[in-house]
Amino acid sequence: MAAQVETTLRGPESYALARRVLEAMEAAEVWPTPVNFELWLYYLSEPEGDLGREIQRLLASKEPISEATADMLAAEYLPRGRLTEEIRDAGRVLDRELTSVAEAISEAHSSNVAFGATLAEASANIESADDPEQLKVLVTGLTAATHQVQAENTSLEQRLDSSTREVARLREHLELVRRDAMTDALTNLANRKAFDIQLEAATEAAEAKATPLALAVLDIDHFKRFNDTWGHQTGDQVLRYVASVLARVSAEPRFAARYGGEEFALIFPAEKTTAVFAALECIRKEIRSRALRRRSTNDDLGAVTISIGFAERRPGETAVSLLERADAALYESKRGGRDMTTRGRDPQQAAA
Ligand code: C2E
Repeated sequence: MAAQVETTLRGPESYALARRVLEAMEAAEVWPTPVNFELWLYYLSEPEGDLGREIQRLLASKEPISEATADMLAAEYLPRGRLTEEIRDAGRVLDRELTSVAEAISEAHSSNVAFGATLAEASANIESADDPEQLKVLVTGLTAATHQVQAENTSLEQRLDSSTREVARLREHLELVRRDAMTDALTNLANRKAFDIQLEAATEAAEAKATPLALAVLDIDHFKRFNDTWGHQTGDQVLRYVASVLARVSAEPRFAARYGGEEFALIFPAEKTTAVFAALECIRKEIRSRALRRRSTNDDLGAVTISIGFAERRPGETAVSLLERADAALYESKRGGRDMTTRGRDPQQAAA
């Protein structure tokens, strides 16, 4: 659903949808705040979904939708809100576990101090004890104190074990949440945020180790026309198809991402120009080689082609500049007739 809304917002129906959202907000007498806009956007995109039904219930009950209510709805139903909520939940569990461990350690510490005092007292009494009965009482007291400390230590171990397990579970869960936040839901490729982080890291590594780094941007040709003719669902399938080809050829250290609506990016650390160019040409040819069919009607969708631009990083060049040069090369591929790969000019040429 989130992916579909994202795609619609970048397609030909985006402005019509945005206008409908504003009209519906005005009719419902809610302010056009960013949160409300996002809520109404998802509501109108899926009126019978959970969020849609909740908003309809609130509207029917004539309850005013305050900012606090909107925030609650956003936390519960919006994709980003859910993520924040997951992170908050994780924080709460971590807090609980840390408190429990801190309490257990503090209890164990107190009982060890008390045990130390019992031992010191017993040691003083043993020296002055001359009667076996008195000694027996002392030994019985010491045995009881030892058992108590043993029991408390066992309980501490159990609590530490349980907390260790809970923290490990939490770590796994957070890793899934993190991966989710870095993944494009429609294509399962890395998303723009993950790409930005990866490109920065790859740039730093290339600078530090003086290794090559190339960046390619790939854009589906005439995607909007395609969407208009065959509809969004088929458009989404085409995005998934291109992504599946990219995923196949981008084993580590390569890194593929969906960069924007119909634009993808591929990072090539430590590969020579000829290898990068050959890989990109393989991708381009493979994508156009498949005869796609519209699943609902079996119509022939014709070939999907992509235009590609790539640039190789020069020493000292920033990620932003590299991206600009790859983008400029993509633009040249588009201007040159599409369905082609263009190598970017180096920074001096580009500046000239
Ligand atoms: P998907 O529909 O989820 O399919 C995932 C994978 O299942 C495909 O990966 C393919 O290996 C297999 N598969 C699904 N349907 C068929 C089928 O009818 N015949 C055969 N032989 N295999 C099938 P693949 O090929 O990498 O495609 C990835 C995604 O690209 C697909 O995800 C779909 O969203 C899109 N796609 C690929 N080909 C077509 C097509 O001809 N028409 C449409 N509408 N979408 C396509």
